Amino acid sequence: MRQSKLFTKTQKDLPKDEVSKNAQLLIRAGFVDKLQAGVYTYLPLGFRVLKKIEKLIREEMEGVGAQEILMPSLHPKENWEKTGRWESMDDLYKVKDSSGRENALGLTHEEVVVPLAKKFISSYKDLPFSVFQIQNKFRMELRAKSGILRGREFIMKDLYSFHKDEADLKEFYEKMKGVYKTVFEKAGLGDNTYLTFASGGSFSKYSHEYQTVTPAGEDIIYICEKCRIALNKEIIEDQKECPECGNKDLKEEKAIEVGNIFELKTKFSVPFELRYKDENGEEKPVIMGCYGIGLGRLLGTVVEVLSDENGIVWPENIAPFSYHLVVLGSRDEDADKKIKDTAEKIYNDMQEKGIDVLYDDREKVSFGEKIKDSDLIGIPTRILVSEKTLKENSVEVKKRSEKESRLVKIDELDL
Ligand code: ATP
Ligand code: MG
Repeated sequence: MRQSKLFTKTQKDLPKDEVSKNAQLLIRAGFVDKLQAGVYTYLPLGFRVLKKIEKLIREEMEGVGAQEILMPSLHPKENWEKTGRWESMDDLYKVKDSSGRENALGLTHEEVVVPLAKKFISSYKDLPFSVFQIQNKFRMELRAKSGILRGREFIMKDLYSFHKDEADLKEFYEKMKGVYKTVFEKAGLGDNTYLTFASGGSFSKYSHEYQTVTPAGEDIIYICEKCRIALNKEIIEDQKECPECGNKDLKEEKAIEVGNIFELKTKFSVPFELRYKDENGEEKPVIMGCYGIGLGRLLGTVVEVLSDENGIVWPENIAPFSYHLVVLGSRDEDADKKIKDTAEKIYNDMQEKGIDVLYDDREKVSFGEKIKDSDLIGIPTRILVSEKTLKENSVEVKKRSEKESRLVKIDELDL
């Protein structure tokens, strides 16, 4: 893509009320735009990252056999009354139309997916299965000061699994732990993310959160480095040691929950009478699990954790582009033509090979400005074509995550 054609620009001015680092960087670099507190537009660069995260997550969910669906955001009030959550969830957006009819804007989807599953489950032969969606959620977050980490409208992957008994749920749940680990590793958060034991509510002792250590986090966790797991402070009152190895030397850190997995068991099957007939014709409640990841939160967390003083540092798997090709013209007409022809050729070759490249072909933008923008945007590898590099028949190649650059002969450029 030609940067000269990008309708967005890097920004110097920020919304006055934007205090979070992730949103400041993402707005300045032109990845998102703020509409109001907790509500953001994904611009072309940000949307590309979001799509890469989506693809990464989708592949992993399909890898465990989950089937993708898309459920609505507008939910009938009756469904939420059935679970008691119309009254009990204080972050639920409620909307009333002109006829007086009330709906909820979905903040999670048990109230929709359970009645849906009920239409297709009658026998043990219909189990197990799992469905997921990647879709917008709405939550009346009172404090929406953390940029895209805490949206009032945000994109979540939510997966729901249906089983005939707890043993089958357990097996799937353990598999999902592996899948989640892979997702966070591939997204570049592997070193900073901990499987965290959290309060399980009334149905199981623990649920599990995936917490990434960052000063931007709103949770406190206690880490056991030996087992690479953590405890959420909210549950630690009666537990001051690692649940795996008994280690009492735990490290306190601030962290953000990037995902969680939860054994719902019969919590939602009971109110919706979601049952199946077992091998002996006996009716039993379906056993469920649910598994969430916030895509925008994951994106924002990567920005919080991996940026430096010059801007964002995208991990390869979710970068908006793999390469940033930057051309710097010359005042000398002949030299200028040669530089631009060379850059255009490299760009066309890359396009033909299907390589993801942003091409900074902007005219009348200074060297300093181009480099500053390039560092701010944070594409993993920069290829610079200038009068200086062409004197050596070379381009300058620099990784965003490294200080040093190197000259590579143009005919040895191996992309
Ligand atoms: P938190 O404690 O941070 O409010 P939660 O426990 O309410 O999170 P869940 O309801 O379990 O979160 O949602 C599943 C996932 O969705 C979370 O792990 C997180 O990644 C993401 N998420 C939750 N709330 C938001 C939000 N307001 N904005 C962006 N992502 C969110
Ligand atoms: Mg919440």
